Amino acid sequence: MDQKCALVTGAARGIGLATTDLFLEMGWRVAMIDRDGEELTKVAAERDNVQAIIRDVSNPQEVDAMVRDTLAFAGRIDALVNNAGVAEFGPVKDCTFDMWRRVMETNLDGVFLCTQACTDALKETQGAILNIASISGLRASTLRVAYGTSKAAVIQLTKQHAAELGEYNIRVNCVAPGPVKTKLSMAVHSPEIIAAYHDAIPLNRYGSERELAEVICFLCSEKASYVTGQIVAVDGGFDSTGVGLP
Ligand code: NAD
Repeated sequence: MDQKCALVTGAARGIGLATTDLFLEMGWRVAMIDRDGEELTKVAAERDNVQAIIRDVSNPQEVDAMVRDTLAFAGRIDALVNNAGVAEFGPVKDCTFDMWRRVMETNLDGVFLCTQACTDALKETQGAILNIASISGLRASTLRVAYGTSKAAVIQLTKQHAAELGEYNIRVNCVAPGPVKTKLSMAVHSPEIIAAYHDAIPLNRYGSERELAEVICFLCSEKASYVTGQIVAVDGGFDSTGVGLP
């Protein structure tokens, strides 16, 4: 029970899986949450010190069950990584209400619900919350009316929670990734967007899942004990340039 435990949502692949692996290297246990049961079960079976918990972060009852399952597994929660996300791109006129809701339910409602449900456990450990937003939440560009708005709201939620939970010594920070080649991004990045990113990013490349995980785990660790309410762009310098995207 002395071993620290991270609860990582969207852990079956991509940035969430890389974050899981880095927590394991740090000696933590990880409650791996995902609604994709097949992929989650497979990757969890390949790792020690993890528990696969098949839940949907946009459903309040499932989120409560997710916390119960995590506490049954590890007895504590030291870090909550709100990473589960979906992306759907399209012009404003083609953004149906169903599409808008799908994006908001996971990207925004999920962060709100998981944070609320984990707060009591995090008070016990004086733990940390790390939200994953996006450079699309920092900068407006075409096609991202739902996605960008959901991520801008996650940035504000980070500041709200940091202001309110500081008195319990719970730190709340946010990482805003630039582009990383994952299933999520490759489904919505056209060849035009990929080329534009390479030109617009000072480091002239996509980031890797591991480069994101390094900053996520640092902000969840004791090394960042005086950091809260911060939005850290891990984006190869993209946000510093002001260069636009298609
Ligand atoms: P990914 O698609 O590889 O992984 C996302 C995981 O979240 C999947 O396993 C999926 O099943 C899970 N998930 C989605 N909705 C869920 C729900 N309601 N409940 C439980 N699990 C759910 O994506 P990724 O690229 O690793 O993205 C991780 C996070 O990083 C997301 O929040 C995304 O918006 C953000 N992000 C990614 C990029 C990028 O370029 N890849 C850029 C900026 C921000």
